Amino acid sequence: MKVLKFGGTSVGSSKNINSVISILEDYATKDSVVCVVSAVGGITDKLLLAGKQAQNKENSFTETFNTIKDIHLTIIEELNPNKNESIINYADSKLNELKSLLDGIFLINELSPKTSDKLVSFGELLSAYIIAETMKNRGISADYKNSQDLVITNSNFSKAEVNYAITNKNLQDYFKSASQKTTILPGFISKSALGEQTTLGRGGSDFTAAIVAAALKVKQLEIWTDVSGMFTTNPKLVKQAYPIDEISYQEAMELSHFGAKVLYPPTVQPVLDLNIPIHIKNTLQPEAVGTIISNDEIVSTSPVKGISNIGNIALLTLQGSGMIGIPGFSKRLFEVLSQEKINVILITQASSEHSICLGIDETDAEKAKTAIDAAFDNEIALHKIDPIIVEKDLSIIALVGDNMKNHQGISGKMFSTLGKNNINIRAIAQGASEKNISAVILQSDVKKALNTLHEQFFESKTKQLNVFITGVGNVGEKLVEQIKQQRQYLKENLKINLRVAGLSNSRTMIFNEEGIDLSTWKDQLAKGEKATLEGFFENTKALNLRNSIFVDVTANKEVANLYTNYLRQSIGVVACNKIACSSDFENYKLLKRLSLKYNAPFLFETNVGAGLPIIDTLGNLIASGDKITSIHAVLSGSLNFVFNNFTDKTKFYDVVKQAAAEGYTEPDPRIDLSGVDVARKILILARESGVEMNLEDIENTPFLSESGMESDTVDDFYQTLITDEAHYQSLYASAKAKNCQLKYVAQFNNGKASVSLQEIPSDHPFYNLKGKDNIVMFYTQRYPEQPMIIKGAGAGADVTASGLFADIIRIGND
Ligand code: ADP
Ligand code: ASP
Ligand code: MG
Repeated sequence: MKVLKFGGTSVGSSKNINSVISILEDYATKDSVVCVVSAVGGITDKLLLAGKQAQNKENSFTETFNTIKDIHLTIIEELNPNKNESIINYADSKLNELKSLLDGIFLINELSPKTSDKLVSFGELLSAYIIAETMKNRGISADYKNSQDLVITNSNFSKAEVNYAITNKNLQDYFKSASQKTTILPGFISKSALGEQTTLGRGGSDFTAAIVAAALKVKQLEIWTDVSGMFTTNPKLVKQAYPIDEISYQEAMELSHFGAKVLYPPTVQPVLDLNIPIHIKNTLQPEAVGTIISNDEIVSTSPVKGISNIGNIALLTLQGSGMIGIPGFSKRLFEVLSQEKINVILITQASSEHSICLGIDETDAEKAKTAIDAAFDNEIALHKIDPIIVEKDLSIIALVGDNMKNHQGISGKMFSTLGKNNINIRAIAQGASEKNISAVILQSDVKKALNTLHEQFFESKTKQLNVFITGVGNVGEKLVEQIKQQRQYLKENLKINLRVAGLSNSRTMIFNEEGIDLSTWKDQLAKGEKATLEGFFENTKALNLRNSIFVDVTANKEVANLYTNYLRQSIGVVACNKIACSSDFENYKLLKRLSLKYNAPFLFETNVGAGLPIIDTLGNLIASGDKITSIHAVLSGSLNFVFNNFTDKTKFYDVVKQAAAEGYTEPDPRIDLSGVDVARKILILARESGVEMNLEDIENTPFLSESGMESDTVDDFYQTLITDEAHYQSLYASAKAKNCQLKYVAQFNNGKASVSLQEIPSDHPFYNLKGKDNIVMFYTQRYPEQPMIIKGAGAGADVTASGLFADIIRIGND
């Protein structure tokens, strides 16, 4: 004999019921079958809703009733298009009973637990009957049996306790004489010895099936549901979750206790003693292997078997100096809760005994507070303890595994993983058996927490990065294209799963927590919502994705002002925008501090020399104990381009215009030509070398003409380049006369920095610098005479984008 149970989704539509019937037909060719079914998916909730509405005198209960009716009649008609009269007659009579019950509740304005159980029973009564009769209609040997005649309980309504002596006998007697191949039983419902209708608790059809399996001592219990087994974590919240092949009873119980709804926690008990394995299977994918829950020795690579979570948790904290050393506080506390029938899900006690924390279902919070405060009113009045503190909107997450106790450091890894992602932990508990570690966190952090923990314990090889890019002009667009091109490579070779989760230009912005489809990002962005800088931040924060990185590809001061907000949310910042790092020293320091405090990387390699690894190299030198003595550099790709192309045969204006057109200058070319841009760069290098310095401290000898320096607008400025051509030609002529090249040089020496246009002789390393190249020479304690030199293209959209990309990957490799 086989016992199978099909859940709400499995019997949730005529299509799914047809799958159930074909599975049952197949089994019936080999053995006799007991099939336990749930109510049609969602019906139990609707019955309870109708009950509440009727109790509250809301007429809408009729609408809810009509929906319940329509769902059932549609299923009956779809399953039995030609012959459905008798089923419809039965359903109608049951539905009429249901309607009368609801009318009664409406009339008396009251819904007792006893009536509520009677009300929800209709769901399973209907589904089981419909399935059995449909099978008969199709000529399949099947019978319907009301399990209320077999499963006998006490009168603890809504979660009744089974009387196994009577129930087992009933089941054994019935199935001894039952001749039909397949018996369909409604799950979840039962009766008390007094004949009252009772139920076994929400999700209780699993339990019914386990009771039947144990009573009949079958070889295996099969739970058929809508997922392919018990997963490493809830697959609805973590895409990467996968089914666990084998798991122990204890682990399955822990996981279900902490919220893995796929199995109702009490289900394991009846089959555990008899060693009957539970096989979890997927009705919608019968070929999938599913999960076996048993006592077998399981060889497992990871000590953590799964991660669960229960939402809607309230945390109660009882504290006060009067608790210390006085025995009996906890006992009294638990007695109160037990009297009130409040289930305690998690307990932690501080080692000082100064406080005790309890996790309970949020719906019980008010009841618990009133009862506990009343029980301790004397001590509260004497200020020995405080009135109980209630916190809501919390959730418990739990790591589960039989083998965790043999592995050091799992809880450390769990908490540091959560900490790195700015997930605040309100309370921690470790089961005495060390088969679980649980933490209470904010409900709003659950998805992020499950995903990061899953990544940490089950996908240790891949790391997901979620980037949010602001500014998709020249450089930003290139960056998106590079990411699109390299995504697969990064996944396969660096185990980095890089996704662009947000994009914005100055007009519109788009977000997608699954990652934006980069083949159509431009069209999507054009249709995006109106962009604001704060809006972009708020959306990024609200998505609350792990390993989030904000990428600033603008030159905008307002964007730079928001870095602190991102870092405080543990969102990393990657910027080619130089404004933040060259702003006031206090602000630069603050950003560095926040980065450390919130474990959020702040990288800006492209601030100096575009994609050249200058800041990274400098950082590595210092981290390894070296000291920078001086830096000599040509750091402006645009100025280099200008002076490499400017001769007595060209015009200064034309050359600057060309540099702007090629995208080598800032939108306002004065920022480059006045030396401000280079000053910012040497300032950043000086600061990264460990020196406290501000932009005003940098000596800047201008080479622009006076009128150029004083021009008010960009257009005026360009005009001065034409009128002052002679001034620029004289600079060229002077250098040429000495056989020198003009280079715009930045220097850092003995804690002082300067920028100026210099005449470079032919034997100097700067002399031959071509095009828009940059060069940096680091003189350090380890490189006193022969400097460490970094040289290469220091401007241009492609190389800047690849520098940003390198920063993102640096974070991924961390
Ligand atoms: P049924 O109606 O078949 O009893 P349930 O809805 O009660 O199904 O349970 C199945 C659901 O449990 C899945 O659809 C999934 O959303 C949820 N679930 C939560 N945690 C897990 C887990 N670790 N493994 C599988 N499913 C889980
Ligand atoms: N129908 C009941 C519920 O929704 C029992 C079950 O599906 O297991 O809780
Ligand atoms: Mg269920």
